Amino acid sequence: MTRTVVVIGHGMVGHRLIEELRAKDESGSWKIVVIGEERLPAYDRVALSSYMDGSTAEDLTLVSPELFTDPHIDLLLGCEATEIDRVGRHVTLSDGRSVPYDALVLATGSSPFVPPVPGHDLGNCFVYRTVDDLDAIRAAATEGEGVVVGGGLLGLEAANALRLLGMSPHVVEMAPRLMPLQVDDGGGQVLDGLVRGLDVDVHCGAGVQRIGGCDGLANEVVLTDGVRISADMVVFSAGIRPRDDLARAAGFETGERGGILVDDWCRTGDERVFAIGECAAVRGTSYGLVAPGYAMAEVVAGQLLDLDPTPFPGADMSTKLKLLGVDVASFGDAHATADGALEVVYANNAAGTYAKLVVSDDARTLRGGVLVGDATAYATLRPLVDRELPAPPEQLLLPAGAEFDSAALPSDTVICSCNNVSKQNITDAVRAGGADDIAGVKNCTRAGTSCGSCVPMLKTLLTECGVETSNALCEHFDHSRPELFEIVRGTGIDTFSELIARYGRGAGCDLCKPAVASILAGLNRGHVLEGEHAGLQDTNDRFLANMQRNGTYSVVPRVPGGEITPDKLIVLGEVAREFALYTKITGGQRIDLFGARVEQLPRIWQRLVDAGFESGHAYGKALRTVKSCVGTDWCRYGVQDSVSMAIRLELRYRGLRSPHKLKGGVSGCARECAEARSKDFGVIATESGWNLYVGGNGGFSPRHAQLLVADLDDDGLIRTLDRFLMFYVRTADRLQRTAAWLEDLDGGLDHLRAVVVDDALGIAGELETSMARHVEAYTDEWAAVLDDPDKLARFVSFVNAPDSPDPTIGFTEERGQIRPAPVSLPTPTVRSTEVSA
Ligand SMILES: Cc1cc2nc3c(=O)[nH]c(=O)nc-3n(C[C@H](O)[C@H](O)[C@H](O)COP(=O)(O)OP(=O)(O)OC[C@H]3O[C@@H](n4cnc5c(N)ncnc54)[C@H](O)[C@@H]3O)c2cc1C
Ligand code: SF4
Repeated sequence: MTRTVVVIGHGMVGHRLIEELRAKDESGSWKIVVIGEERLPAYDRVALSSYMDGSTAEDLTLVSPELFTDPHIDLLLGCEATEIDRVGRHVTLSDGRSVPYDALVLATGSSPFVPPVPGHDLGNCFVYRTVDDLDAIRAAATEGEGVVVGGGLLGLEAANALRLLGMSPHVVEMAPRLMPLQVDDGGGQVLDGLVRGLDVDVHCGAGVQRIGGCDGLANEVVLTDGVRISADMVVFSAGIRPRDDLARAAGFETGERGGILVDDWCRTGDERVFAIGECAAVRGTSYGLVAPGYAMAEVVAGQLLDLDPTPFPGADMSTKLKLLGVDVASFGDAHATADGALEVVYANNAAGTYAKLVVSDDARTLRGGVLVGDATAYATLRPLVDRELPAPPEQLLLPAGAEFDSAALPSDTVICSCNNVSKQNITDAVRAGGADDIAGVKNCTRAGTSCGSCVPMLKTLLTECGVETSNALCEHFDHSRPELFEIVRGTGIDTFSELIARYGRGAGCDLCKPAVASILAGLNRGHVLEGEHAGLQDTNDRFLANMQRNGTYSVVPRVPGGEITPDKLIVLGEVAREFALYTKITGGQRIDLFGARVEQLPRIWQRLVDAGFESGHAYGKALRTVKSCVGTDWCRYGVQDSVSMAIRLELRYRGLRSPHKLKGGVSGCARECAEARSKDFGVIATESGWNLYVGGNGGFSPRHAQLLVADLDDDGLIRTLDRFLMFYVRTADRLQRTAAWLEDLDGGLDHLRAVVVDDALGIAGELETSMARHVEAYTDEWAAVLDDPDKLARFVSFVNAPDSPDPTIGFTEERGQIRPAPVSLPTPTVRSTEVSA
C-alpha cells in the first residue's frame, strides 16, 4: 500500500530527502508531497552569492526535469504550510488546501535574524537568504554606501554582493574580528587586512544602535560606539534563527536556543513526525551548515524505507570558503579549546596568508586548524583531524608539506565531510568500476558535490587506484593546458574572466588561475600584475621575487651567461650592504640577495635597474638562466665561444613564460664544464658547430638531456631551439618539465625531431614566428612596475598601514651575514616557518 510522506520546505535538505527516497524506494511505497513556500524549487543556497556574479536561477537549481513528471512526487510551490493537525494527520496550506500524511518531515530551514533596533524595518533594509532577497537588493542598489550588519560568513558574502552591484560596502561586526566563529585573532587580523584592501570598510567591536531614515528609507546607521555611517542600503546578516514557529504552534518541543527538538534519529516527540536541516535541534543543537542537514535527510530516509537505518553521526563543522576572493578555512578544534592543545602558527602579513594547526600536547595528533588567504592545504589537512600527523606540524603548514602520500590515510578517513564519504567509499566505487573520473566519483558517492574542497583529493585517490584521470586542467575547464593555450592564442582572449566565461565554469581555482596567467603571459597579453592578471598569480609571481622561509623575499637579477662586469658586481655588493641582505652565488651563475621585505623590493629594483640589471625571473615558471663555461676565450680546450652563445640564448629567451621553469647550458667542448646535459636544453660545442640536447633536469629525478641534433651552425641552433621551446610551451601540461613532457610525447624524441627538425607537422614557421614575437615584445617586469604607481602600490607589508614593516620578521647573524631568526617547536604558539621559493 502506498503511504504519503509530506515534506514541509523544499530547500537544500528537504530536496536531499526527496532524492534519497526516490533513489532507494524501489517499490514506490511512498508518495511524496512537497510544500515549498518559495516560488522556485530547491536551489543551491550555498552558492547563492554567485547569483550576483552572473549565475542564473537555472544555474543554481538542484532539481532535475524528471522530478516534475515523477508520478510519486507532488510539488506544491509558492504556498506556505500554515498549520499541522497532529490528531487528524494533515497539514493546512496558505491557499486553504489540506494535505493528509502518514509521515511528516519538517525541513523549514532558518530565517535571517534581524536585530530589533529602531529603523530595522525601513524600506531599503534587506536580508540575504533567498533568490528573491537578492532580486530585491539588486533592484534597490545605487552607487552609494551599503552597510552590512554582521561580519560572519554571510555578512562578507553580502558585502561582496554590494560591491558587485557598484556600491561601497561597510561591514559592522559586534565581535572584535571578522568571522569570529571560524577564525581566531591572528586569522581575523589577516582577513581584516585583506578585506579592507578590497575597499570594504570594516567596523569591528561595535553593534548597531539604530538606523536613521527619511521618507521611509534608511539613510544612516548609528553604531554603539557613536560612529555614524551614511547608508543607501542596509543588509542584515547577523545570524539565523531556526524556523520552528509552525512546529511550536503544533505543540512540538523546541530547544533552549530554538529549533525543533529531535533525537539522534531526527524524531520529534510524535513518532510520525521528523525534523531535519537547519530547523532541527538534534539533542538541542542546531546546525547552520548544509552537511549535517544532508546527514539528517539520510537518517530519515533510512527509517522511512526501513533500510538498515543509522542514527545521526554528529557533524563536522569544517568550512572552506572564498569570501570576496579571499580563501578562508577552519576545521576541527580551530580555537584550540581542548585541554593541552598546542597551536603552530605561520603568519605572513606581506603575502596576506595565515595558517594555524592545532595539535595534541605531544604535537603528534592533528586537532584542527585555521587557514586564511591560502586554503590549498585544506583538502589534505581536514581528513587528518584526530589522526596521527604524517609529518611535523610546521612542515605540514608549508605548501609542499601538505602534499603527502594519500596512501598513508587510513581507509575510514572522511574525505568529503559535506556528504560524509570516506576514503574507503571512494576507493570501493572506483574499484567496482563505476567511477573512472571525478564526475563518476561524484555520481557514485556524492563526494565533492557540495563545497568541492575535497576534489583535489578525489583526483589523488583515483590515481592511487591506478585510474588515469582526465587531462582537463581542473574542474573549471574541460580543456587541458595545451588546449587552453590554443584557445587563448586563436581567440585573442586576454583575460581570465573572459576565458572562464566562454570556455569554463565557476570562478576558477588555485590550479587554473596561475596556469592561465602563465598562458596569457606566454602570449604577451599584458604584464603579470596588470589589472585582473595580478589576482591570478602564485605568491612569487605576485611579488616578482621569491618568498623565503621567514616571509622575506630574495631578489635575483639576470646575469646573462654568468658574465658580469666588476662595476655591476660592486653595485650588487652595495645594494646588499645598504639593505642588509644575505648574498649567495647560485648554481645558475648569478647572485641571489636574500632577506628583502616586501616594501623594500621597489627600491632595490630601482638601484639594480639604474645599474643596467633586469629581472632574472627566478620567481617565475619561465626561462631562468643559460649557464656557460668560459669557452674558447680563456680555456685552452675550448672549440667554440660558449659564453657569447649562452648570452645570446639567454637574452633571446628571457621572460619566456612556460609550463614549468626552464634552464639552459652551453659548454665550449665535450668536457662539459657547464653541465649542459642536466638542463632543459643543453648546447655542447663540436669542432664544426653545436650539438643540441633536450629534456634534462636536476632535482628529485635527475635526467640527462638527449641529443636532438648534431653539428648545428649558430643560426641553425637558434632556429631549432626556437621551435623546440615554442612547441614545449604550447603542448606541455601544467607544471610539466621538458623531461616529463618528452617522456609523455607520443613517439618521444623521434617525433620531436620530426616536428622541430623535419617540420613534419608543417608548424615550424609558425613556431619561429611566435618566438620572434616573444623576443620583440620582451620588456623587463621590474622596470614596468617602477614605472606604474598602481602596480607599485601592491608592494606594502600592510595594506592599511603601508609604511609599517612587518614586526614578525627577525634575523640573527652568522658568518658575517643575516639569517632568519630560528624557530623552536612545539610551543603553545609558534610564529613563522616557511613558504618556499
Ligand atoms: C548566502 C548563503 C551562503 C551559505 N554558504 C554556506 C556554505 O558555504 N556552507 C554551508 O554548509 N552552508 C552554507 N549556507 C547555509 C546553507 O544554505 C543551509 O545550511 C542550507 O540551505 C539548509 O538547508 P535547509 O533545507 O535546512 O534550509 P533551507 O535551504 O533554508 O530551506 C528551507 C525551505 O523551507 C521553506 N519553508 C520554511 N517554512 C515553510 C513553510 N511553513 N511552508 C513551506 N515552506 C517553508 C523555506 O522557504 C525554504 O525554501 C549558506 C547560506 C546562505 C544564505
Ligand atoms: S667545457 Fe671545455 S671549453 Fe668549457 S671550460 Fe670545460 S674544458 Fe673548457
